[in-house]
Amino acid sequence: MDYRDYVRPKYVELMQALGLQQQFHRASGSQLFYRNADGAEVAVDDFLGGYGAALFGHNDPEFVSQYCQLLEAQIPFNAQMSVRGAAGELAHALSDALNAELNNRERYISTFSNSGAEAVEIAVKHAEYCRQKQLQEQFDALDYQLAQLSSGEQAYQLLDLASLDIPAGLLPASLDSATLRQLAEALRQHNLQVLQSAPVFVALKRSFHGKLVNTVQLTHGKQYRQPFARFGLQVDFLDPAQPEQFAQLQQRHQQAWLSLQACAEGWQLVRHAQSRIAAVLLEPIQGEGGINEFPAEFYLGVRRFSNQLQCPLIIDEVQAGFGRAGSLLASSQFNLQGDYYCLSKALGGGLAKIAVTLIRASHYQPDFSYIHSSTFAEDDVSCQIALSALRRLQANDGAMLKDIAHKGAYLKSALQELHTAYPEVIADVRGRGLLLGVELHDLSKTGSLVQISAQYNEALGYIIAGYLLQHEALRVAPSGSNSNVIRLEPPACISLAQIDRLIGALQRVCEHLRRRDSLPLAAG
Ligand code: PMP
Repeated sequence: MDYRDYVRPKYVELMQALGLQQQFHRASGSQLFYRNADGAEVAVDDFLGGYGAALFGHNDPEFVSQYCQLLEAQIPFNAQMSVRGAAGELAHALSDALNAELNNRERYISTFSNSGAEAVEIAVKHAEYCRQKQLQEQFDALDYQLAQLSSGEQAYQLLDLASLDIPAGLLPASLDSATLRQLAEALRQHNLQVLQSAPVFVALKRSFHGKLVNTVQLTHGKQYRQPFARFGLQVDFLDPAQPEQFAQLQQRHQQAWLSLQACAEGWQLVRHAQSRIAAVLLEPIQGEGGINEFPAEFYLGVRRFSNQLQCPLIIDEVQAGFGRAGSLLASSQFNLQGDYYCLSKALGGGLAKIAVTLIRASHYQPDFSYIHSSTFAEDDVSCQIALSALRRLQANDGAMLKDIAHKGAYLKSALQELHTAYPEVIADVRGRGLLLGVELHDLSKTGSLVQISAQYNEALGYIIAGYLLQHEALRVAPSGSNSNVIRLEPPACISLAQIDRLIGALQRVCEHLRRRDSLPLAAG
């Protein structure tokens, strides 16, 4: 098989062992199709939904026909470094839509890109760019003052260091006194270090923000992050179950500018607190981490923390946003307002690879427009499709969003019934809209699953996905960093009958697991 030999060798072995090796040749609406050994087409109900991207269904006929028409009309694709009308129109519509949902009146400025991880990378870059500018301004102001002290008439005035509360290490410990010039120079060196301090980003335990060089450091799962830790982005993870960590984080990354102020006794050393934290990131509902929501106070705490540190709050809506949770932004359901928003996945209507980082105009650094771009970003076709996808969400007073909320509630209550019936198998049911998760108890240490689980560490969710695909023609997957959680993210066009069929199949899985049976894996 070419894919195994030339694309992802080990991965295919694993997929084969789990019974997940099907090659889909067609996709339509809520279904994907593969051919079985006899060549017959098998329709699979898709409850994975392109990891959230297929909200509008596979190959939505209106978007496909629009796409074809745009190509036939010879819409430019490669026109980087020109004014892009469709990108402008989409950015305007997104800004209006955010304002309408958040009840705000602020312009949100869009930076377009091609994938979710890129949208997060852009947010991180922008936050650091702002921090650098701010640090430079603060440094320059203090440095001007210190330079004056070093060169003025009083420069050689002798100061008694004991009276000044000087931080250890600033001057040799053996010195009892120093000239004003010596001290001012030491403070300038100290401030230079503050200016050059590396940024720290705060993300949450179980977060997932992508797998590129920087974003992978923001992704909590160690298996993705640790091999690349030496690339350098410094990230501190906050456990939402331990809100006291806010204060600890603040303290851990606090530094201070130093300056001198004249006072009655002569001079006094002044410390101006400065935090190395450049931004706080969160997914309003964690997707890959296991479909996790947090208590209302925690969202409030995150906002307050960002305000206190005067650093941006980056809300990663790549998976939960753009309708999936039943509203344009999942965060709006928690009354959480961000300074930056990242969108991708469903934004492309299931056809286009597009992502956007929206930044409040009051936080946007205009120079950033010069220094970030990408060959394929802002292309007219993707922007036009995304605009249609946005209009679809908004049409008929948000009818599609209401439908998502309704179907999500139906699916969730059926899952909760299963939870009640099989408490020894299902640990929890979480999420909202069509972003739901079923957490299973860790059964890997019991019964006949042992052998497989030992071979494929923490594989229960994948084993179930393989079983459902092979034997029930259903597609699900566990969360990327928490394989005990089966994530359900079907397209919005999924029918209630398809949902019932899933529930029937999950019930059979629960029966197997309750009896500690091994699940029949790959079809013979
Ligand atoms: N952020 C979140 C919340 C995600 O769920 C994902 C993808 N699962 C990403 C970022 C990365 O998106 P992409 O795979 O398009 O790079």
